[in-house]
Amino acid sequence: MPRIPLGRAALAGLGTLAVVAAAVQPVSAAPRADRAEGPVAHAFSGAAAEYGVPRDLLIALGYSETHLDGHHGLPSQAGGYGVMHLVSNPDQHTLELASRLTGDTARELRTDTAANIRGGAAVLRSYADHAGLSKAERRDTDSWYPLLARYGGATDPATARLYADTVYTFLAKGVTARAEGGERLTLPARKVAPERGSLAPAAQSPDYPSALWVPANAANYAVGRTASVSKVVIHVTEGSYAGTISWFQNPSAQVSAHYVVRSSDGQITQMVREKDTAWHARSGNASGIGIEHEGYVDDPSWFTDAMYRSSAALTASICARYGIPKDRAHIVGHSEVPGNDHTDPGPNWNWTYYMQLVGGSTGGGEVQLGFPSYDTLRSGSTGAQVSAAQSLLNAQGFDAGTVDGSFGTKTTSAVTAFQKARGLGADGVVGARTWTALLSAGSTPALSQGSTGAAVQRLQRALTAALGRTVTADGDFGSGTQQAVRDYQTSRSLGVDGQVGPATWGALQAGR
Ligand SMILES: [Zn+2]
Repeated sequence: MPRIPLGRAALAGLGTLAVVAAAVQPVSAAPRADRAEGPVAHAFSGAAAEYGVPRDLLIALGYSETHLDGHHGLPSQAGGYGVMHLVSNPDQHTLELASRLTGDTARELRTDTAANIRGGAAVLRSYADHAGLSKAERRDTDSWYPLLARYGGATDPATARLYADTVYTFLAKGVTARAEGGERLTLPARKVAPERGSLAPAAQSPDYPSALWVPANAANYAVGRTASVSKVVIHVTEGSYAGTISWFQNPSAQVSAHYVVRSSDGQITQMVREKDTAWHARSGNASGIGIEHEGYVDDPSWFTDAMYRSSAALTASICARYGIPKDRAHIVGHSEVPGNDHTDPGPNWNWTYYMQLVGGSTGGGEVQLGFPSYDTLRSGSTGAQVSAAQSLLNAQGFDAGTVDGSFGTKTTSAVTAFQKARGLGADGVVGARTWTALLSAGSTPALSQGSTGAAVQRLQRALTAALGRTVTADGDFGSGTQQAVRDYQTSRSLGVDGQVGPATWGALQAGR
């Protein structure tokens, strides 16, 4: 969805809840004295104590809404603000309610994380008082289920249930999150047995049976189509899964998508029939099927393997059913659809991996990306390394044309555009720096010795280009890779720890 970097939303599914013993957990309403708290943890402790809401519940709610990222006061797609996603839209006004309850201004609640957390706690407490919860009940995390459902603002029971279940899923699984300023918050796993009441689960999708079905409001899409289905459009929600589903049920949204995919486990909810026209990509609506992915374009923590795999299976099914080629001309990002001002899915979306999972080409079949060394390529170059560069450019949304191993004018333009976007000298020649940026492009998970997988392979190839020596691209982060990381960090004046975090990824992706 995202127009410019926007907001957020949140929730989770049902089936994964480890609902075990109905134990009444002690409420950690008081700040824990055993360990120094950071400012965000302190804000949660203070709000919990002030409003009598379990601290862990507040953290799990904030995590499910935003991964504890306040996005600098920018709104989510649904008009929600801050870590606690206080909402101000035509049908939901928890931001205004929080302002009345706390005395803080709407601006403070939007931009000040401590105020926002306090506001979320105040709203929950007002719901608890309205529902007549006793002090003892307020201390019992499991009593808050219907109040969390209300906090989500969903108008139908299945979506309300998705909302509240998400929070209890994170309570059951535990959470480790990075809050603003790099502060690390940990929520230990606990047993939960939420009192769900009569909320019924969602029905099964009519078009893709492994998905759930929660229909969008009829005001948010058009019945039928004016063109045949010929492409899949990839979006990122700028909001939580449940929040997005709830928003598409709201008639004031005037937007929708066919499918929404959850970050934590890849659960899919269908909201518009494939035969109908969802409103997600302007000029791409008539012929497109829109898939929204839970997350924020600027926060890689949402882009999970589970979400990639689940979404890719859905896209593969759509391509098979409509005879759509599985390539990047037909599986496109929202930002690539003509006439759009949106940025999603953004630089943290790993197109290469996604297209591999879809079972199509990243631009030209099974292209070899790993080489013992990378040659300098320019107009007129030919061969397997040209194909690799073309494939990588296409995967990043820079149209190098057909992956044919022949470096022509279209490839030159794509290289130049890529170099400009990465702040590299835009000469249209693929040298060590451009190779490094191309090979490392994609998601930026934290990697260290013992890590394995596609991201490690990407790192190894990029280091091969950056260092000018072969780092075996076997996807296994062993001692050789660690030494290469150290050498890279040393030569680029980075902190030398042999681990790959934001600074090292950032340097690689900038072609340093
Ligand atoms: Zn979008």
